Amino acid sequence: MSNIYKFSSEELEDIDLLKKILIIKRGNFKAYKFRKEKEGFYKFIVLYAPKLYNENTINAYILKNQYNIYKMAYKCFFKKTNLLENTQNHILFLGKVYKIDYDNLLQADFILNDEENIIHTKHNINIPYKKSKFLEEQAFKILPERLNMYAEKFKLYIKNIKIKNYKSLWGACYTDNTILLNKRLILCPKSAIDAIICHELAHIMHPNHSKDFYATLEKIYPSYYKDYIWLNIYKTDNILD
Ligand SMILES: [Zn+2]
Repeated sequence: MSNIYKFSSEELEDIDLLKKILIIKRGNFKAYKFRKEKEGFYKFIVLYAPKLYNENTINAYILKNQYNIYKMAYKCFFKKTNLLENTQNHILFLGKVYKIDYDNLLQADFILNDEENIIHTKHNINIPYKKSKFLEEQAFKILPERLNMYAEKFKLYIKNIKIKNYKSLWGACYTDNTILLNKRLILCPKSAIDAIICHELAHIMHPNHSKDFYATLEKIYPSYYKDYIWLNIYKTDNILD
């Protein structure tokens, strides 16, 4: 096997994420084999790979099988790692850690520089209380915006939206079409927010977790398993109180 694979930057990001989900063990195996294993409380996926295969060959393989990996991972629990920091001078916002640049002459309330991971802000948010307030304001703006966008797209009626700091759920849907969303979703990438929103919207059509529910969900939001994984890998507890 030679290094004939050339991955795009998007594919490299996917490979990176897949490798956080998978444990790869190489040995005297004839072919690839996925197995779910358990250690203590944690279940995880192991990919057994023939030791002759080089890294790029394995990368191409996991990329090709990503949908199945995400689906398998969805059913497992993960050891949560605190990979995203929310330290001084930085803020975790929409799945990224931005360096805070306070500039009181700024025209807009804030500007995101995604190339350099800098957030320019008009007000000084580099104080824990202000940081939480900023994130809260954004949660109350962005979460309903996205929910309404999808509800309109799928022609679903929503009675009410409640946004709070729920301890153990990302979202919920009541039988009267009231949707709850966790405020901490504002720390997650838009793709993970959308995954939760579409999960809750699918409950309007199926008020359970039946096969039909997941079939609907996969239809309305095909990358559900992949985007949901983010929420399990990155710990966002205790950041927003
Ligand atoms: Zn559900």
